Amino acid sequence: MIPAAFDYERVDTVDAAIAALRADEGAKLLAGGHSLLPQMKLRFVMPTKLIDIGRLHDLSYVHEDGGGVAIGALTRYHDLEASETLRQLAPIVASVAGQVGDPQVRHMGTIGGSVAHADPAGDMPSVLLALGATFVATGPGGMREIAAADMFPGLFQSALAGDEVLTEIRVPKTPGGWSYQKFTRRAQDWAVVGVAAVRMNGSANVSLTNMGLTPMRAAGVEEALAGGADPATAAERADEGTAPPSDSFGSDEYRRALAKVLVRRALEEALA
Ligand SMILES: Cc1cc2nc3c(=O)[nH]c(=O)nc-3n(C[C@H](O)[C@H](O)[C@H](O)COP(=O)(O)OP(=O)(O)OC[C@H]3O[C@@H](n4cnc5c(N)ncnc54)[C@H](O)[C@@H]3O)c2cc1C
Repeated sequence: MIPAAFDYERVDTVDAAIAALRADEGAKLLAGGHSLLPQMKLRFVMPTKLIDIGRLHDLSYVHEDGGGVAIGALTRYHDLEASETLRQLAPIVASVAGQVGDPQVRHMGTIGGSVAHADPAGDMPSVLLALGATFVATGPGGMREIAAADMFPGLFQSALAGDEVLTEIRVPKTPGGWSYQKFTRRAQDWAVVGVAAVRMNGSANVSLTNMGLTPMRAAGVEEALAGGADPATAAERADEGTAPPSDSFGSDEYRRALAKVLVRRALEEALA
């Protein structure tokens, strides 16, 4: 439970963070520390250096941006939950931020850390996938945009390069129907299974939490909806293309059955 030795540097700009990443291949960014430090204590990761970006206050914001909402990557869950802009324009983000862990986690954890960590059991990656978010990465060559569909290529892997900082997340305005169904054994637990549904373009985008190696869109459900299926019929396809884990919280079979129930509930709420 004691991390391996590491160096520490606090940076005041994104450019300094990028330079520090380039100077040491074993270095990692530290934002809220609520995923990285537990991993370090278990020695799953042993960075040679932590580059602390936790005080880059310029990257903590939520504001309306044309047809969407721009969210700074260092915005903490607590501030997302409290944001009037999000509550009005993309309420699923504010609501789900309020369902992550406990108050201590929500006061430290950042949306950017959650995305970069790419935990398939994480709530926010799944929600951002359903929203079709755009991720802005800043690296030595400047900024580039990454589409939601490309952001989570594998287990605990994001599309960010080793010398890039995730700086902004852009989501479309979606004040209409939405739902996040998070099934937990106890209050404040991680999702055994989660389902995000957002009404868009006359249908719904649906994504799944903890149903495979990555957060994923429920392609079969979306196809059924596009073909005119009702929520109950579409929900029967919830586990298509998934590979749910089996653990002490539930078997593969249990999660598949649960996903169908949660997708139906999510669609009924989002499309009501
Ligand atoms: C007790 C507990 C309960 C929790 N419950 C839940 C839950 O119910 N649901 C849930 O979704 N999550 C849960 N979490 C995880 C929590 O959401 C984490 O805070 C979040 O996943 C990571 O955000 P962070 O800012 O703490 O990132 P950190 O731990 O600082 O970093 C995580 C990873 O992302 C990288 N990183 C961070 N910021 C950036 C950036 N801007 N650009 C590039 N890379 C970056 C880091 O280098 C590191 O690899 C829980 C955590 C704890 C400790």
